[in-house]
Amino acid sequence: MSLDKKVIIITGASSGIGAATAKLLIKQGANVVIGARREDRLSEIKALAPDQVEYQVTDVSKLDDVKGLVKLAMSKFGKINAIYNNAGIMPLAKLSEDHHDEWQQMLNINIMGVLNGISAVLPIMHDQGYGHILATDSVAGHKTDATTAVYSGTKYAVRAIMNGLRVEENQNHIRSTIISPGAVSTELYRSESDQASAEALQQMWQGENKALTSEDVASAVVYALDAPERVNINEILVRPLAES
Ligand code: NDP
Repeated sequence: MSLDKKVIIITGASSGIGAATAKLLIKQGANVVIGARREDRLSEIKALAPDQVEYQVTDVSKLDDVKGLVKLAMSKFGKINAIYNNAGIMPLAKLSEDHHDEWQQMLNINIMGVLNGISAVLPIMHDQGYGHILATDSVAGHKTDATTAVYSGTKYAVRAIMNGLRVEENQNHIRSTIISPGAVSTELYRSESDQASAEALQQMWQGENKALTSEDVASAVVYALDAPERVNINEILVRPLAES
């Protein structure tokens, strides 16, 4: 299998899409280095395959944390085939509600988290002469609805950054992939500061064909990672059947 012994860093791997991707990659024989803030969740994944998993508590909004995760990958496995910048939060609210703190958090995690991941691995990938950088974007990075203005803004930014990365780095044999899911049933509703909105979101995600599973998205990530080196899968946009 082409992912056997590959080394892949995943941020936001303590739940949802990131955790499902880590588990699928372990099954494919890859080594994963996972980061997030909830250590108990990360250690549960390590317990599944102790030799294939390393983890470190990581806040992606802090460059030193992300550099630490990259350092761990290099010290344990000696190379980095890919980094999947997946961590994100989605506190939704109308602009008029004026949640400045949440706006700042989204900028720090959703945008700076991706930039910190890129910044931490690029020098190593340049030295290696290969690499693959992925990021979780969203359908919200293609359209904006009421309450999604700032979240969508961060995801439009991720798409712009990743497209820039592609044109700058493809000559250096560094691939780049944007993963853009529609609704996925995960714990993302936790970032809602307002309990009623969190419950509404959970409700919206229930019902046949209304939401993808994390495993559906993980399969898309593995497809991009597993493509032959000459193939640069630029974006995968995947919606649940019932989403328009
Ligand atoms: P989850 O809430 O299950 O996962 C989010 C992950 O991000 C968790 O592992 C969380 O871990 C981590 N995270 C949040 N803040 C930080 C931080 N500061 N530093 C490090 N890790 C952090 O939701 P999803 O799996 O759905 O979300 C994953 C990505 O998918 C996000 O970027 C989200 O925007 C995107 N997305 C989700 C969609 C959906 O419908 N669910 C649709 C489209 C895109 P911890 O709290 O332990 O730090």
